[in-house]
Amino acid sequence: MSITENIKQIHKKIIDAKQRFARHQDVSLLAVSKTRLADELMEAYKAGQRAFAESYLQEALVKIEALHSYPIEWHFIGPIQANKCKLIAANFDWVHSLARIKVAARLDHYRAMMPSPLNVCLQVNISQESTKDGFLVDELEIAAKQVLSLKHLKLRGLMAIPAPSHDFEQQRRVFRKLARLRDDLQVTLAHPLDCLSMGMSEDYLAAIAEGATIVRIGTAVFGQRKPKE
Ligand SMILES: *Cc1c(COP(=O)(O)O)cnc(C)c1O
Repeated sequence: MSITENIKQIHKKIIDAKQRFARHQDVSLLAVSKTRLADELMEAYKAGQRAFAESYLQEALVKIEALHSYPIEWHFIGPIQANKCKLIAANFDWVHSLARIKVAARLDHYRAMMPSPLNVCLQVNISQESTKDGFLVDELEIAAKQVLSLKHLKLRGLMAIPAPSHDFEQQRRVFRKLARLRDDLQVTLAHPLDCLSMGMSEDYLAAIAEGATIVRIGTAVFGQRKPKE
């Protein structure tokens, strides 16, 4: 199937899932374009896709440069080392993978030279895996308060990458946990968090059932990824 056809199908499935689970929030499709070529992004663009997500900075910068004349919204979703903050702050509209306070401070510092704040989600280590990035549940409140104090960052919500599961109910349970953390955090902070970035190719319907507002989809849009060399 073509990228164009894949995008159409995903939009249909999103609409169906919203109906089936009686969900009324807007759900936006973020096309995860890591490892894909600019031509593939262009095909998605022509199908109406405007938001793209990248995980590897150097590769992303090549595509951002190649496509700079198109009104694309760029999202960073990969691990962030301190030495990458300057270029991320200068080239992206969103960061979903904010997982360390030191990184938040650096992004804030470099964003000062841009006209608008950087939209950020705090990444939560929702399955409490020792190998995964993300704040632990216990650390979230303090992290969120610190981010709120940074004026060039705009805290939008939470993001997570759960441990993979093929069981729909299990997928839902984990996403429900993230949704509740978001609900609780908005109350604690007295600050609206309008974004729940959750759901990938294998689990986005479960994520929508639990209130996802952004689904991050790579494989189902572009096809299987080749392993990265
Ligand atoms: C690669 C990636 C995705 C997309 O994964 P697919 O299974 O290809 O849809 C989503 N989120 C993050 C953080 C990723 O790194």
